[in-house]
Amino acid sequence: MLPVNTYGVADIKFEQTSTSPSEVKITLNVSPDSPNWQAYYSRLGGLVLLPKGGLSAVQDLTPPEPSGDYNSANSANQNQKPTIGTISLSNNNSQLLIQANQSIQGSGNLDRRTGVYSIRIPNVQLSESLTGPQLGRNSPIYELNVRQVTADTVEILVKPSLGVRFGKLSQPNQQVLALEVRSLRIPNPPPNTNPNPNSNPRPITVLPSPNTSLPPRTSYPPGSVTGTPRGRVLVVIDPGHGGKDPGAVGLRGLQEKNVILPISLDVSRLLQKQGVQVKLTRSADYFVSLRGRTQIANRARANIFVSIHANAVGGGRSHVNGMEVFYYGNRALAAAIHGSIMRSINVVDRGVKRGRFYVLRSSRMPAALVEVGFVTGVEDNRNLSNPAYRQRMAQAIAQGILDYIQRKGL
Ligand SMILES: [Zn+2]
Repeated sequence: MLPVNTYGVADIKFEQTSTSPSEVKITLNVSPDSPNWQAYYSRLGGLVLLPKGGLSAVQDLTPPEPSGDYNSANSANQNQKPTIGTISLSNNNSQLLIQANQSIQGSGNLDRRTGVYSIRIPNVQLSESLTGPQLGRNSPIYELNVRQVTADTVEILVKPSLGVRFGKLSQPNQQVLALEVRSLRIPNPPPNTNPNPNSNPRPITVLPSPNTSLPPRTSYPPGSVTGTPRGRVLVVIDPGHGGKDPGAVGLRGLQEKNVILPISLDVSRLLQKQGVQVKLTRSADYFVSLRGRTQIANRARANIFVSIHANAVGGGRSHVNGMEVFYYGNRALAAAIHGSIMRSINVVDRGVKRGRFYVLRSSRMPAALVEVGFVTGVEDNRNLSNPAYRQRMAQAIAQGILDYIQRKGL
């Protein structure tokens, strides 16, 4: 995972070249006013890519506008505030790095009783495509809660794994905060745990950000929501795919994983606003196995499981558009979500259908899988590229879930 939109680099592409199976081509898409870049062998192994004149030569360049319609509705307020795009573990797990696209400043505080380290960063926003570290079995971090606490303040709570302590919060450069991580334990996997470390990653939780019609800041006391669920109904929202798995790829390169994550985060935020507890199977762009997804729901004894996907058809059939909702055992939840979407959104109706999806069959609670539209369809693709449309879709899905909760008296 590499941060983009810093140093004038809009994206970084890695491709296996077609001529040699042992050769990889790296392409940097740089801004028009960028100096040339050079590649060096590093004495520590690997390659170093640097702009001519060093990083200081590019630090002052404004980050390039994101290309494509996907972000166009946001572009008006794109450059206002720095955004945090990547949180990662580096240096052999000895540092937690928080990376932004412009200068940030943060302050840290260690709760000596719980060992939880909280970092507050004013004047910053979370990127819609924030990526976090995989918190596997041997990760020094047990849990990461990331939250936009006010319109311009982000709070990050870092809970240590057993035998881990946090040191100082430092600033290696203007755009990066680094938290020192000290591991005191012996890296010896405990017995009778899951043999596959990736099959059950602990998710990082990106708590919902406040919407634009934000009430005065004072009504968001810091830390009031994190880990203190208000309701008793627990809904698991499952944004499909993620990380190495883009899901369906449609017209103009629109990727399913990027369409459904913002919708899922919005559904989660809206439900929480109504006092419903929500757990996301992934809250940023990383991979979770199908088994991992239903395990999260089954272990948490969730009341409702809703998986969110987007569709695709091949053969250039761009006239195929529409929304459909699947169920396996219990039809009522799927019907409630479908009804709500059809009431509020102008989209082709492909109905409520029975489908043998793994996440529907293996979840022990009423479950539904929403296909919000076709990334390969001309109409749906245009709509799903539009953040305002995605927000309305999220609202309709959340309303459908609330309708079901009400009808069942949960
Ligand atoms: Zn999918």
